[in-house]
Amino acid sequence: MPEERNLHTRALAGANARWQRDKKPVEERFWAKVQKTETCWLWTAFRNKAGYGVFGLEHHVHGQQGKNILAPRQAWILTYGPIPEGQYILHNCDNPSCVRPDHLRLGTLSENTRDMYAKGRGGDRRSLGEDNGNHVLTDRQVDLIRQLYPRLSQEKLADLTGASVSQVRNIIKGRQRSG
Ligand SMILES: [Zn+2]
Repeated sequence: MPEERNLHTRALAGANARWQRDKKPVEERFWAKVQKTETCWLWTAFRNKAGYGVFGLEHHVHGQQGKNILAPRQAWILTYGPIPEGQYILHNCDNPSCVRPDHLRLGTLSENTRDMYAKGRGGDRRSLGEDNGNHVLTDRQVDLIRQLYPRLSQEKLADLTGASVSQVRNIIKGRQRSG
């Protein structure tokens, strides 16, 4: 069928264009998207709703999904090597769009949550758009749920963040509705 051959030709052309683009080493592509300031190094390309940079590690090739990685994780990997299983990249500077390696550190999810309280976020909660009244989850907890789903189950996320399963479900639904 000519129609089918046409589709195939187009797919090949697309794959070829991506191949050309991927010839640029990952490292070069990555740092080209970073704007270095005196303090933080800011991710200038796509960011997810939580403000974390997203880097296209592999582009989708015919029939296969592309692979994205959070930019701070990729910055860590390029600088220090693989991230041990179960470890997260935390920001010392509290700037989710920052990818400066010496502003990043390894940690666990519970450390991240503890960190948030240790730094006394209470003061700037209002500016983060949280309701100071009877809110249950902080913006940071919501961000974590959005980042980690579907890698972790709803139950696991509830467990880790102290949210209820139905809260987790609502957050996930909210994201799906708008994005
Ligand atoms: Zn920073």
